[in-house]
Amino acid sequence: MYYPFSWLKSLLRLGGYLLVFAAVGWYLDDMLLAITLGALVLLTINYWQLLKLNRWLWHSRKMSPPTVKGVWEHIYEGIYYLQRRNRNKRKELGELVKRFREGSEALPDAAVVVDAKANIIWCNRLARLDLGLKWPADAGRRLDNLIRHPDFIAYFHAGDFDHPIEVPAPTNPGKTFEYRIMPYGEAHLLLIARDITRVSQLEEMRKDFVANVSHELRTPLTVLHGYLELLPADDQVDPFQAKAISEMSAQTQRMQNLVEDLLVLSRIEASSERIYENIVDMPAMFRQLEAEAQALNKDKHHTITFHINGELKVFGVETELRSACSNLVFNAVHYTPAGGQIDVYWDTVSDGARFTVVDNGDGIEQNHLARLTERFYRVDKARSRKTGGSGLGLSIVKHVLTHHNSRLEIASTVGQGSEFSFLLSQELIAGT
Ligand code: ADP
Repeated sequence: MYYPFSWLKSLLRLGGYLLVFAAVGWYLDDMLLAITLGALVLLTINYWQLLKLNRWLWHSRKMSPPTVKGVWEHIYEGIYYLQRRNRNKRKELGELVKRFREGSEALPDAAVVVDAKANIIWCNRLARLDLGLKWPADAGRRLDNLIRHPDFIAYFHAGDFDHPIEVPAPTNPGKTFEYRIMPYGEAHLLLIARDITRVSQLEEMRKDFVANVSHELRTPLTVLHGYLELLPADDQVDPFQAKAISEMSAQTQRMQNLVEDLLVLSRIEASSERIYENIVDMPAMFRQLEAEAQALNKDKHHTITFHINGELKVFGVETELRSACSNLVFNAVHYTPAGGQIDVYWDTVSDGARFTVVDNGDGIEQNHLARLTERFYRVDKARSRKTGGSGLGLSIVKHVLTHHNSRLEIASTVGQGSEFSFLLSQELIAGT
């Protein structure tokens, strides 16, 4: 408790003592001696109290202060009050930390906190079980010395934590973990590792299933299509039969296209081909593509112009880049109304090599743009079916570009046309 006038009381008491000593001095006729002796007694008493305080502060186990009177009582009380306040604060903080720890132990994922120097500050129980960390033995050790997978180390040191990575678990290579790192506070990092074994197994199964079914459908479709080609489809002899055969032929052709596109997509998804290993002669590829586009253009009579930098080659996977570019060019041919204007550009720009296809077709409404690269997404289902489209073309383009560290950019204005383009980074340019 704080007494507002305690200093005044202490002063008055000191004055009182001095008055008593002065009175004794006056009575004994030696004022100076009496006051000096009195002051010495006061000093000794205060020194003794100081010693007691020191003993209480440093050697006593008791929380409550010894009982004393006067100014020392206030000092003891002040110190006792501060101590109690600190103890309560510590208790509250301890409770908070305990609650936080209990909460993080309840997390279904492994969690590790590291400081700016990558030293482990704290980890939860799942991190000890799944990541093989030992607690408290590993406290203060570098995280990248304990999780040694090269992909994780590269991810950890790159410092770009926008996307998570998938890596086999350190304690069990049969399990797959998704590592996600979130920076917070003063250069601290929170690592969350989630067991995604089942999800990645299902994803693998899905990919295998699509690839296998497509592969198995290929042969029967080829046989069907072959026989249909051989059947006589003469309008004069039997118009119904002729119509049925030509319709069946068109539909098997559509199914074949679909199966081929599914296989291409599966191959690209599973592709582990390194993009820096081979140089792709893009100008030569565009010469071929131009001939194919002109062949496809027979009925539509578009004006197709290729503006190609004849020297610009890039690193990449040839089949994939061919697939992406041809899909974009053929789409322009298919979806632009007859007599349109299509321009194809391939040239260097300030930050790499850019491929662009511009058409003056009907354009696409803005609300469709974000979804165009989804599998089987079509703006006008009836029309794309008529063009023989599988709905997988732009999905293939997206996968190819992701594999080449790029992405598809689409700009379109209804009634004016569309522009599909992508940029390959400077590092992929192999020669100009
Ligand atoms: P599809 O195999 O049906 O052509 P894509 O994935 O290649 O499928 O294209 C998806 C949809 O995007 C198409 O159905 C079409 O509606 C639209 N689209 C693609 N390219 C163009 C274009 N150049 N102009 C207008 N619409 C386009």
